[in-house]
Amino acid sequence: MDQKKRVVVLGAGFAGMFAARHLRKLAPRDVEIELINEVNYFIFQPLLPEVAAGNINAADAVSPLRLLLPGVKFRLGSVRSVDFAHNRLQVMDDTARTLVYVPFDHLVLAPGQAADLSRFPGLSEHAYTMKTLADAYRLRNQVINCLEKADVTDDSEYKRRLLTFVVVGAGFSGVETSGAMKDLIDGSLKFYPRIARSEIRMILVEYADRILPELPEELARYTARELTARGIETWLKTALKTASAHAVEMADGRVVETETVAATIGTAPHKLVRDLGLPMQWGRIKVEPTMRVPGHENIWAVGDAALIPLPKRRQDKEERFAAPTAQFAVREAACLARNVVGTLIGRPLEAFDYKPKGSFASIGCHKAVAVLLGVRLSGTFAWLVWRMFYLAMLPGFATKVRVLINWMLDHFFTRTTVQIQVPSRDSARYLRFRKGDQVFKPNNLADGFYTVISGSFDATIGAGTPVPYHRVLGPGDHFGERVLFGDDLRTGSVDALEDSEVLFIERDDFRRFAAGFKILDDYFRDYIVRNFPEHMWPESLRGTEKKAAAGGGQPKAPRM
Ligand SMILES: Cc1cc2nc3c(=O)[nH]c(=O)nc-3n(C[C@H](O)[C@H](O)[C@H](O)COP(=O)(O)OP(=O)(O)OC[C@H]3O[C@@H](n4cnc5c(N)ncnc54)[C@H](O)[C@@H]3O)c2cc1C
Repeated sequence: MDQKKRVVVLGAGFAGMFAARHLRKLAPRDVEIELINEVNYFIFQPLLPEVAAGNINAADAVSPLRLLLPGVKFRLGSVRSVDFAHNRLQVMDDTARTLVYVPFDHLVLAPGQAADLSRFPGLSEHAYTMKTLADAYRLRNQVINCLEKADVTDDSEYKRRLLTFVVVGAGFSGVETSGAMKDLIDGSLKFYPRIARSEIRMILVEYADRILPELPEELARYTARELTARGIETWLKTALKTASAHAVEMADGRVVETETVAATIGTAPHKLVRDLGLPMQWGRIKVEPTMRVPGHENIWAVGDAALIPLPKRRQDKEERFAAPTAQFAVREAACLARNVVGTLIGRPLEAFDYKPKGSFASIGCHKAVAVLLGVRLSGTFAWLVWRMFYLAMLPGFATKVRVLINWMLDHFFTRTTVQIQVPSRDSARYLRFRKGDQVFKPNNLADGFYTVISGSFDATIGAGTPVPYHRVLGPGDHFGERVLFGDDLRTGSVDALEDSEVLFIERDDFRRFAAGFKILDDYFRDYIVRNFPEHMWPESLRGTEKKAAAGGGQPKAPRM
């Protein structure tokens, strides 16, 4: 039996990636370090606005985790839940659509935070966020798309909408995002002869009475002046109310017609973190100063997901908790690794403490604001220091060189306005199965809904139980519909009895479609109640559908 101790790190952002790196360096060789992440690369989030601006190619801003972490076992996958009683994680292997269980002796939770825009009607549907590489790339494509369309349209109202850009939230990422978008637009305008500079409107919306709360007021005022000089309007004390396909509405009644709203607000815990049942405060996991989760000897949390208390002497200055920044996350990761290894080898643990050396915000047009070792900097010099600082922080020599080359090219050559669209697979598509192929089996991810076009399938639920459900499905029949009602995992299996074809619709699209089309929703509720015995109904249908079923006759005995 494998007696190796296993430390598993969940998430490979600043906190998780650096924690895994330090753990590998510090832990005895017979301790296995495993890192699980949804993508196989590390993204330096502070560079995302640069990717959106087109200063850096998306692929050059990231580093492969396997290159950064020699000696660490990497697993690509999405963690769905943690079983604290049995010290194991439930991880979804998206390719095989199966769940695997990953055991651990110590678990480091570093999933960062998510963006939740649902408090503002329409914002989740219409806003561009700035959390991932795909987000930055999407925003860049959208800005270029607006310029392309505005250059050729004869509809003046449409053109005005296309050339109006709104950024919600004026913290670091909002200010940097608006500056980056303006850089992209200003650097591209020469290719769009029918767009005058004066036609561009950019608005930065902020609920508070100042921008950049992370920096001293004087630098925030400098930034606001610079933004105004660049044609970016700053609306302070303004609350966003709703967003729609063609406009955003403020709480004070002002409506801005726009095709592009970028949102850098709405930080919220990941669903996974919310469901763990761990102590939470302000959407973060409350931990001890050592980063251990109270009541769990072997569970640790770090980075944006963790609320880490700072030592008492710092608390007078209102720095009660470690800030959710990359700077903190990197230092937390080192301390956490020492503590996890300390626990393994019986060494005393240390409380986390760190005083940030400085803060930077790039505001576009080769300018930045910064506080470095207590010194306030602004303008082009601050921007140069900002670039050097981030270059030094970037992990991986190859990534440093690539980013540097990107910056140099951007300095000497015209910015490219190429839109590389990678069309995603059709959400509704035909799939072929050969005789004997398995479409899915129990515990697979409920990935979507299937309609049989040709051929036949064997559907079984509860194989091996006294009364299994068993049915042969042919053209016109369908299966997988129970995903509509919240069942994430398959309970039955479907196998092709001959060479067959189905029309497949992905789960989320199918759910949205049925939710917006009541007849379809009613049809599936009724179908499930009539065709499956009650113990096979999805949890959300039980009870609520009993009356309906009673009114409409008994559920049919399953056809064999
Ligand atoms: C646009 C922008 C600009 C910023 N600028 C600065 C700056 O200038 N200076 C600064 O100090 N900070 C900055 N920050 C903040 C900084 O990036 C974050 O504080 C830092 O990334 C937090 O690190 P983390 O590891 O806790 O989380 P993250 O970096 O968010 O990493 C979390 C990782 O966990 C993975 N994950 C999540 N859930 C799961 C799951 N269920 N299964 C598997 N993997 C999962 C995610 O894919 C991700 O890789 C900026 C942030 C943004 C968005």
